Amino acid sequence: MKVFKFGGASVNSVERIKNIGPIINQWAGEKILVIVSAMGKTTNSLEKVTGSFYAGKKEEALQLFDLVKQQHLTTANHLLVTHYLPCEKQLKRFFIEVEWLLYDDPVKDYDYYYDQVVCAGELFSTAIVSAYLNEIHINTSWLDVRDIIRTDDDFREASIDWDYTGNKIRELVIPEFEKANIVCTQGFIGATDENESTTLGREGSDYTAAVFANMLNAESLTIWKDVKAVMNADPKQFPDARPIASLDYNEVIEMAYYGAQVIHPKTIKPLQNKSIPLYVKCFSDPSLEGTLIHDKPVHDLPPIIVLKENQVMLEMNSTDYSFMGERHIGHLYQLFEKLNIKPNLTQNGAILFVCVLDDRPEKIEKLALEASSFLEVRVKKGLSLLTIRHYHKDLIEKMTEGKQILLRQQTPETVQFLLQ
Ligand code: ASP
Ligand code: MG
Repeated sequence: MKVFKFGGASVNSVERIKNIGPIINQWAGEKILVIVSAMGKTTNSLEKVTGSFYAGKKEEALQLFDLVKQQHLTTANHLLVTHYLPCEKQLKRFFIEVEWLLYDDPVKDYDYYYDQVVCAGELFSTAIVSAYLNEIHINTSWLDVRDIIRTDDDFREASIDWDYTGNKIRELVIPEFEKANIVCTQGFIGATDENESTTLGREGSDYTAAVFANMLNAESLTIWKDVKAVMNADPKQFPDARPIASLDYNEVIEMAYYGAQVIHPKTIKPLQNKSIPLYVKCFSDPSLEGTLIHDKPVHDLPPIIVLKENQVMLEMNSTDYSFMGERHIGHLYQLFEKLNIKPNLTQNGAILFVCVLDDRPEKIEKLALEASSFLEVRVKKGLSLLTIRHYHKDLIEKMTEGKQILLRQQTPETVQFLLQ
């Protein structure tokens, strides 16, 4: 069995959804679990619906939701003939689920409502994709993943109950493959033991696909994306970025850690545990080789470059010129945890601790304010953080030329520069 995951960009238009048919037909006769994200920017639109609802603007929330509904009905209408009516019926059931909630007044936490509303994006997209596959005679079964993926109630960042979920996969997913070769379900969402919907964190569909691949002992997972392959740099920033044919799991984890927008970092572990290969393939040109990610060490990698813009440096020193010891630093890390801040780089010296963060003004303000009760704090904005893995001297010179280097950190594998 294989697992395929189609991201939001691969289902964001009628044409792109039509692409899925020929891709699946290349593996005709094989059993494939198909995990789909919400179409295009639907998750962002549903976040806005939740925001309006929670701000007490019921009318606005319903209007915004209406736009989302219309987009999906229009897409379904363009794709489907014989399967339109059942699909419309299914969509309308999901619409009502959300609207019931929007007519109420918010009394619970924002994150709770977020998950109840935002999960609809994946329900809509999978209803349409599986109806379309059936329309073109690819026999496909649809499952509500909320009956399978059981999570805790840490809304927006829920953790999976592996035992319960594993049993449900055996009970509900495997038998489904007796009815159809293709089983289609949602990424990113799950449910609690009280049947409340949950989400696994933004961009979480890759993770769902990896969880299924692990529990089904799949032979491989393929993530279909709108890129040629995993590249050694972001082609939008570096036009001469080139595709990487293969990577090992650890390299991908490192790349994700330094901020490369490749694959959701949580995706790797479930695959690594069972040595399941991960293919990253281009959905608009499946003939391209893409990238294979596996457990075999890959040598001679090209330099891998990650450039993060909009960085903020916080310099903090003790007020009495005592050493920056574990008491100060421990306290700072408690603040990071409390404010859910993940520093992109930290460095400490005798009386100075430096950290580099993404520019999230509210969080930085809170951090600076709280830290200034026991440290002196200076904030510097508008910086960029350059990370190069597998670097060499010429490349470093080329990439830092004419820039002011505020900080440098280096290991044999990785060098980082904070640049002004
Ligand atoms: N639709 C969700 C998001 O946009 C999950 C995903 O795409 O992986 O974050
Ligand atoms: Mg996505």
